[in-house]
Amino acid sequence: MLSTDTVVDNMEGPKYQVENWDEIADVVVIGSGFAGLTAAIEARNAGASVIILEKMKAPGGNSIISDGGIAAAGTPMQEKEGIKDSPELMYSDMLKAGLGLNYPELVREVAGKSNEVLQWSIDYLGVKYLDRVDQFGGHSVPRCYAAFKVSGSTIIKQQLIKVRELGMEVKTQMYLQTFIRDSEGRVRGVLVCDGYDHKNKDSGSDKYIKARKAVILTTGGFGADIAFRVAQDPRLTEKIDTTNKRFATAEALKEALKLGATPVHLSQIQLGPWASPDEKGFGVGPAFSDYIVFLYGIVVDPINGKRIVNELADRKILSDTILNIGQPCIGIADKKAVEQSGWNIDRCLEKGVVKEFNQLEELASYYGLPYDALKATVEKYNNYVKNKLDEEFGKPFPPKTAPMTYPPYYGIRLWPKVHHTMGGVQINVRGQVIDLNQNPIKGLYAAGEVTGGVHGACRLGSCAITDCLVFGRISGRNAAAEEL
Ligand SMILES: Cc1cc2nc3c(=O)[nH]c(=O)nc-3n(C[C@H](O)[C@H](O)[C@H](O)COP(=O)(O)OP(=O)(O)OC[C@H]3O[C@@H](n4cnc5c(N)ncnc54)[C@H](O)[C@@H]3O)c2cc1C
Repeated sequence: MLSTDTVVDNMEGPKYQVENWDEIADVVVIGSGFAGLTAAIEARNAGASVIILEKMKAPGGNSIISDGGIAAAGTPMQEKEGIKDSPELMYSDMLKAGLGLNYPELVREVAGKSNEVLQWSIDYLGVKYLDRVDQFGGHSVPRCYAAFKVSGSTIIKQQLIKVRELGMEVKTQMYLQTFIRDSEGRVRGVLVCDGYDHKNKDSGSDKYIKARKAVILTTGGFGADIAFRVAQDPRLTEKIDTTNKRFATAEALKEALKLGATPVHLSQIQLGPWASPDEKGFGVGPAFSDYIVFLYGIVVDPINGKRIVNELADRKILSDTILNIGQPCIGIADKKAVEQSGWNIDRCLEKGVVKEFNQLEELASYYGLPYDALKATVEKYNNYVKNKLDEEFGKPFPPKTAPMTYPPYYGIRLWPKVHHTMGGVQINVRGQVIDLNQNPIKGLYAAGEVTGGVHGACRLGSCAITDCLVFGRISGRNAAAEEL
């Protein structure tokens, strides 16, 4: 370990003067999910030398286990399908779901550059997407594209290929402990634990890594950090499961806050309404709920068998409605809905998360629903579909929606799980982290789920990946352009 002198130790955390460094690069990226790898690629392409640090044994973060769905407006794929969309419409959808808490200038960047980053991922990274455009709750039109295998690993794999092609590597088991600043407060590097093993907290040794130009923080969200999330929202105890990997924790975010970064919307924590209590973590059920039930089916109250909500409302509205009912609600779709969706639900059935029933009555009996009430609910809903007008909840019926009359029927129990943390450090449109006096913290950028402000009170489905790629690129380029 090399010598350091603590220069100042005040409310904003210690400032260190490191005389010798273990490693040096122009740009140091912390985290290797979508945002980190994108930032590293862009910084490298802008001529910077780059070190990528990752605390786990393998790269990818939550990104690699995601569904790989990315939202973009005004794309050639939409044009081919005759879907009328624009960045302005995507912007207003994101603001509506975010209850206006979103920082408009950040949303404008994400929506405005959404098509550009989608095409970049195809043309430059070589990511392959399924030949379909999906619509999720809160989006006015279909604008979501699923990476091959419906998996974020498809994107991460291509990013890692590019990282290697550009002569970089992800240095794993490197855990950010703190930022190193000079006496003027500029971030000059990081102190990491080299050889970190989350199963053995005593493992590893200190290493000082200098960033000649800037550090980019891309350490993701804190959905699995029970203590920190309960501090923000006391309802989200260990009793509520999460879709996140268990290392999605807040330590790096906290270090940025100690530096004086402005916290934004930390209590805005999203629960995924498509999750099922009948499997752990994200599981396979959400594919059935999100792509089939919410579009072409219904969600009912287990006590009275009545619909509870516009199934195509955003995640916050759906999750809050289910939580208020106080017990898992039942998502229902018929054979026609599954066919219309074009998705295969074999895995959901094999795992037993989704159940198949020859008659609606069997479904009612299995879930303990009052059959007569459920039958009346389905009849009412079918009339709404025929008339293309949902008189109860105003659900916008996608064009292929058909009345639910084709057995078998499929059911899933729905109970929300912690999924996304909308809050994080404040950034500006250049990706610079902003301090409590609303000035950029020199030498520190951030992108992805560790930042706050893009999504406000509710992130729309598929908008996180767009956010990670847009601000990953912005922060990477701007960090590389910093003067030495
Ligand atoms: C199951 C699931 C499905 C999802 N599906 C979609 C989807 O289809 N579309 C969509 O838009 N969004 C989706 N999301 C959300 C989206 O995947 C995430 O918001 C996004 O991947 C976050 O990327 P990131 O780069 O900011 O963080 P991550 O991918 O989480 O990467 C952060 C990295 O930083 C590392 N790190 C953290 N702390 C430290 C430290 N102290 N030192 C060093 N390294 C550290 C972590 O280990 C991790 O590898 C999904 C999320 C989940 C959990």
